[in-house]
Amino acid sequence: MLETTFALIRRAGQQLGLDDKTIEQLIATDKEHIFEIALENGKTFKAYRVQHSNRRGPYKGGIRFHPDVNLDEVRALATLMSFKTAAVGLPLGGGKGGVAVNPRELSDDELREISRKFVEFLQPHIGPDKDVPAPDVNTNAQIVDWMVEKYEEMTGDSSKASFTGKSLDKGGSEGREAATGRGGVFALRELLDHQGKLGNKLTYAVQGWGNVGSFFATVSETNHPQWQLVAASDSSATVYSKDGLSARELDKVKKEQGKLAALNGDVEILNSEDLVTQDVDVLVMAALGDAITEVNMDKVRAKYIVELANAPVNDKAEAYLTKKGVQIIPDIIANAGGVIVSYLEWLQNKQGEHWPETKVNGQLETYIADAVKAMYDTAQSRNISLKEAAFINAVQQLLKD
Ligand code: NAD
Repeated sequence: MLETTFALIRRAGQQLGLDDKTIEQLIATDKEHIFEIALENGKTFKAYRVQHSNRRGPYKGGIRFHPDVNLDEVRALATLMSFKTAAVGLPLGGGKGGVAVNPRELSDDELREISRKFVEFLQPHIGPDKDVPAPDVNTNAQIVDWMVEKYEEMTGDSSKASFTGKSLDKGGSEGREAATGRGGVFALRELLDHQGKLGNKLTYAVQGWGNVGSFFATVSETNHPQWQLVAASDSSATVYSKDGLSARELDKVKKEQGKLAALNGDVEILNSEDLVTQDVDVLVMAALGDAITEVNMDKVRAKYIVELANAPVNDKAEAYLTKKGVQIIPDIIANAGGVIVSYLEWLQNKQGEHWPETKVNGQLETYIADAVKAMYDTAQSRNISLKEAAFINAVQQLLKD
């Protein structure tokens, strides 16, 4: 992921005629905090906060709890955040954090202690106008609430603007849960609209029936009935029906039985990895990074790919697929809905307001629509891919001042 991210930035810099020094400055991280969290019971965990760039505003990005968290991954994700906030025009920078831990092996008390100790170490470096973390993989509103509580205890700041992704009664925003999936729907809709194809019927498949993938499908089912969901996967299986699947029914099965493989009825149950090879118009990638690579890129049959996970298509696969005419809506725009609504949460906290969901969704729509238009225009005028165009626009934003 780190290589893919850096390659994209270097290519954008070269296309803009930037010198090597300027390009390397865009890639370099401002600060890397690497520390150890020791619990009262003696367990220790490696922890990270990478602050990539605050050229455009406070560092912004999630904190993940996962056993595979490592410095390279956090660095790549922090870098992507700076380009994401720039690509969608937010006055924020980029950062990312993580703790190398499997939260499923810990009690709630241990998770609370990790969350509070993470903040105890980082407090001098974070805050509403310095660095505003959020939840990410395996972290949620409860973990963020514990972090905010510790931050408030240490600083006396009661604005709640030190973190986003809080629970609703602790200063969270309406619309945050669905924001990333909803943003992906807006991004696809806007692109199809620019291409004069919005009214056309299309089929699509979703890899990763989690928060992001399921909201993409349920929002699409309501707003775009001409888009037909025919395949979906999670880590248990791919479910397929040429006659179409109901997103709401899949959601029910996943919530009640924990896996899509439990779906009954007239559906085919295939392996998880068969999702990307399905004969559909659009692949919605909402599971993991590096899901389409040299190993499977030649089996992709879709015309569009929506990158809802971070870097689900690696650099080599992107070049190969673009040459074949596949259009990839890049992660830094397709999945920016989460950080856009995080920004709106931060604004609400700073202004002491709580907005209705319609207002939040309306602003989300505007940010995504503007970013897709700018990306589309750059891609057309330079005759380059959407991903290259999004990175070029982001680089230009980052160099503006
Ligand atoms: P999630 O944990 O809710 O869902 C992930 C889903 O992917 C799960 O259903 C899991 O079973 C499935 N999965 C895992 N491995 C798979 C595989 N090999 N094949 C098919 N499915 C597989 O996570 P989420 O919050 O929906 O996030 C999904 C992705 O989007 C992550 O990569 C995350 O980093 C990225 N992302 C999320 C947000 C957000 O706001 N949640 C924002 C930006 C990017």
